[in-house]
Amino acid sequence: HRQRKLEKEAAQARILVDRFSFALDRIPTYIFMKDQQRRYIYANRSMLELFKCSAEDLAGSSDSRFFPPETVARLHETDIRVLRHGEDTAEKVTCKGKDGHLRIYWEIKTPIYENDKKTSICGLCGISTDITELELLKEKLEQQARQDYLTGLFNRRFFMEQGNAELMRAQRYHHTLSSLMLDIDNFKKINDRHGHQAGDTVLKRLSDVMRKMLRTVDIIGRIGGEEFAVLLPETDLQKATEVAERLREEVACTAVTLETGMALYFKVSIGVASLKDKDTDLNTLLNQADKALYQAKENGRNRVCLA
Ligand code: GH3
Ligand code: MG
Ligand code: MG
Repeated sequence: HRQRKLEKEAAQARILVDRFSFALDRIPTYIFMKDQQRRYIYANRSMLELFKCSAEDLAGSSDSRFFPPETVARLHETDIRVLRHGEDTAEKVTCKGKDGHLRIYWEIKTPIYENDKKTSICGLCGISTDITELELLKEKLEQQARQDYLTGLFNRRFFMEQGNAELMRAQRYHHTLSSLMLDIDNFKKINDRHGHQAGDTVLKRLSDVMRKMLRTVDIIGRIGGEEFAVLLPETDLQKATEVAERLREEVACTAVTLETGMALYFKVSIGVASLKDKDTDLNTLLNQADKALYQAKENGRNRVCLA
């Protein structure tokens, strides 16, 4: 009677295992088990397809059969954390895929214990999911959250964020820092005469000129419709004024070609301010530059004024 009961239990356990492994085979994620010596004892179908081998062929294999040395070393490192120290690991892993391109995986590993007393670890179980597409999408959205869609420059929010960090750095190390506020002259007229589309082209062309004339360390933002702010690290008021003047001149001789073939010129006014006392914050610095910009407008436009 006892024998019959054991047989029945064993048969039920086999059915459960079969059903479970059948289900795991249909999951498009890599699922595997390794023994204490880090040899594979199980892999679902996705993983076997990746390894190009059968379940029987897999048994007893180690990572060096399937992965390049640098990947083997990295896998070894996390395996040891799980097997020796009983850690649960969860991390993003970048590996070269079958097509030679980098792919990003989210990999979870957990120890397998001999029994529920959890005293002896006999292997590990891992789940590795390809999150490349998700990561690319995330990167794209993050980029969109930083960028102004029309010009590709930093948007106001990201400019302020980066600007604040730069200002704090300048204050901490007692470095010079200057800001420019730039506004297109009579931009309403450009829109009215040539259309909103032409106005947009002007904004894009101006952004190109700014990128070309400024350094990569300079922080450029489109902070309003046709208002731009720039932070110039390691730049005093005199140098910043020279930069602004060169920028203004370059803009003045840059033309946008309209649909009619006509060349459209546009001008900008720029206000310049530099970091002085230590407790100035970004808004104060930008306000000073904005006041100087207002002066430039008052004094006839197409010019640079200092705070
Ligand atoms: P001023 O020389 O005093 O600056 O004169 P202005 O005509 O440029 O005056 P203002 O700076 O107030 O003009 C802002 C105009 O910019 C109004 C708005 O229609 C236009 N504008 C704002 N954002 C955009 C945009 O994304 N595209 C286009 N085409 N126009 C925009
Ligand atoms: Mg304006
Ligand atoms: Mg304007």
